Amino acid sequence: MNTFRCTCGNTLYFENNQCLACGSRLGFLPEHLSQAALEDLGNGRWRARSPDGDLGVYRRCHNDIEHNVCNWMVPDEQEEIFCQACRLNRVIPNLKIAGNHAKWLNVEQQKRRLIYDLLRLGLPFQGKQDNHDTGLAFAFMEDEQSTGEFVDTNWSGGKVFTGHANGLITINILEADDVAREAMRQQMNEASRTLLGHFRHEIGHYFWDRLIRDGQRLTSFRSLFGDERLDYQQALESHYQQGPPADWQNNFISAYAASHPWEDWAECWGHYLQIRDALETAWALGLVRDRPRDFSHLIRIWNRVSASINLMNRSLGLRDAYPYTLTDPVLDKMVYIHDLITIEGKRES
Ligand SMILES: [Zn+2]
Ligand SMILES: [Zn+2]
Ligand SMILES: [Zn+2]
Repeated sequence: MNTFRCTCGNTLYFENNQCLACGSRLGFLPEHLSQAALEDLGNGRWRARSPDGDLGVYRRCHNDIEHNVCNWMVPDEQEEIFCQACRLNRVIPNLKIAGNHAKWLNVEQQKRRLIYDLLRLGLPFQGKQDNHDTGLAFAFMEDEQSTGEFVDTNWSGGKVFTGHANGLITINILEADDVAREAMRQQMNEASRTLLGHFRHEIGHYFWDRLIRDGQRLTSFRSLFGDERLDYQQALESHYQQGPPADWQNNFISAYAASHPWEDWAECWGHYLQIRDALETAWALGLVRDRPRDFSHLIRIWNRVSASINLMNRSLGLRDAYPYTLTDPVLDKMVYIHDLITIEGKRES
């Protein structure tokens, strides 16, 4: 994630909605991938400015005005009341249930990081409201009778399963509860489990449909990830019953990736987005000097940065932030994703 600058010169961050130096109200402009200082023009219209000058007139997203969960802006000439990220929402949590607003806010913040990833990499996507067949949409739902625990290995009535189906990404908002998510992480024996990680994994399934299946790349995909025609339900069942193969670390980024070629793809895709974003953050903060020139350069920088983050975490008494090993077979799959995103991504920085 980049950092941004206020018209007063102060450094701004992605989540800010007010400049702590000059007090200006702020809004994020997805068209410019930038924060802007806002001047109230009245009637719900705001002039947006960056240190480079006037960026035009905008309105605040309806989810900011009504619910205080969004800091993205809508260009005044557009009729939409929701910003580019909120327009993708098909289902939002029931806000009459105590605690749901806080969870939803957390979910929305992570979702905007995902949409930023996609915009920055120039990955092509549309909302379902524009294209029902190939568009993207989100459903943020809670279990019917949430007890603070959830099950995602077998179906029982009223349970919401985080996942992707035909462009619709469903997130069980209990994932926004730190205690419940950590309990699930331990139960599933995962190295890490985050809301943003869920978004990046599930969008991997979306782009598999778009770029691999619809993009006629099944042959090259299968040569690296295996044959996805393998029965998916059966593969997941046997993964949950028997666990991953003993030597999974040699070939997969996570144990779950070993369950089925689709999951391997989504895990690698999510990791790639994570690495790209973390390296942009490191660059924006001046922790690394260079922007990656190519994949091997990117991985060299990432090995250094991720080792540093882990050592910093240990100094602070925390677990490793990046508890993963990138073996050669995993890197082969990630370079495939890197090349694909480089070809399909229109806006590269
Ligand atoms: Zn300022
Ligand atoms: Zn919004
Ligand atoms: Zn998946």
